[in-house]
Amino acid sequence: MEFKKSEKLYKKGLKNLVGAVNSPVRAFSSVGGNPLFIKKAKGTKITDVDGNKYIDLVLSYGPMILGHRHKKVQKAVEKALQKGYSFGASTENEIKLAKIVCDAFPGMDKVRFVNSGTEAVLSGIRLARAFTGKDKIIKFAGCYHGHQDALLVAAGSGLMTLSLPGSKGVPEGAVKNTLISNYNDLESVKKHFENDDNIAGVIIEPIAGNMGVVVPEDNFLVELKKYLESKGALLIVDEVMTGFRSKFGGAQELLGVEADITCLGKVIGGGFPVGAYGAREEIMQEVAPLGGMYQAGTLSGNPIAMAGGIATLTELKKQNPYKQFEETGAILEVILLETAKKYNVALTVNRFGSMLNPFFVNSEVTNFVEAQLSDTKKFAVFFWEMIRNGVFLPPSQFEAWFLSSALSDKDIKKISKAIDAGMKKVAE
Ligand code: PLP
Repeated sequence: MEFKKSEKLYKKGLKNLVGAVNSPVRAFSSVGGNPLFIKKAKGTKITDVDGNKYIDLVLSYGPMILGHRHKKVQKAVEKALQKGYSFGASTENEIKLAKIVCDAFPGMDKVRFVNSGTEAVLSGIRLARAFTGKDKIIKFAGCYHGHQDALLVAAGSGLMTLSLPGSKGVPEGAVKNTLISNYNDLESVKKHFENDDNIAGVIIEPIAGNMGVVVPEDNFLVELKKYLESKGALLIVDEVMTGFRSKFGGAQELLGVEADITCLGKVIGGGFPVGAYGAREEIMQEVAPLGGMYQAGTLSGNPIAMAGGIATLTELKKQNPYKQFEETGAILEVILLETAKKYNVALTVNRFGSMLNPFFVNSEVTNFVEAQLSDTKKFAVFFWEMIRNGVFLPPSQFEAWFLSSALSDKDIKKISKAIDAGMKKVAE
């Protein structure tokens, strides 16, 4: 397998792009080598500029839940393109997508569309502060909520991959209202409330996917919500990754919890830049033009993104692939564990439906500290062998693998063969 054209583009890209990428998670810093440059994708496959074809388990970090270029999404977007790309005024499709989203999440009476998950979360946090009149926010170590200043502490995703404790350029003042707790540890939340009556709410990834996949322990979210209610604080559930992926109603539907404020992204735009935040009526009344919390966007509710989102969610609802996701995910989990055992490789697999993650460690992973015990060098060896065997993975031990509803038995067989080759290589 050759990567000559990718290498050439990488060198060319370095001149005017930072690291030749537009998001650090796309760099191959922790696995070595150059990032691959992609030419096209269709269904479950993605093709790089050298013509190498891979089964794609990155799926644009989650949005391509139906596979690439699903014919209904493609058609809807092409139709929208004929009418104009951006108007700076309202369109009917914004109302249609808002209804689909609000119907799926019982805790959302109203929604506001933005352009990314980062924007969704930073607006959701502003809203929590506006509604409660309090300043502080608790986040969990290892959770990633986008690149807004206030939450770039003890964050997962690219910061974890690059071993950064936080970000340069974030002033102390920007994080002084951010408190950190440990995932799956309610006591660590309670401790903050014991010393502080200025806490607006807690933000959480309901299934963490940015320190690798870390699953909430039984009833953790339900107990957390109950506790926050007793303190008059809000539960902000960041479903940017899990929304419409864990279930049509997100992780909240599955875990039996209702957020005060929900943040969405990824799947709701079907691959186009969209985010959203929403809540019950009384909370959303705070948002301008109804209330005094200002939040705006030139391209928000973009017609192409709305068309992509409506087509994706409509098809997703029709397909209802959540049972299939669970079954396929379980098959891959077993394949990973059995193959690791065959080659005597220490491995722990965390999975929640169609999000999964093999950690190269033999102890369980329930939080940020435990995730960091994973052997990232072994992951790098495994990663490249998967690439050579035609499976495209996120280039980081700490990013989730995503499944699409387009994945076939043939694809699973190919992934299984690649896993065998990967584990064999790790064991050498
Ligand atoms: N929240 C979560 C849980 C995420 O996984 C991400 C991105 O991966 C974000 C927020 C930020 O979204 P975006 O990259 O669209 O700004």
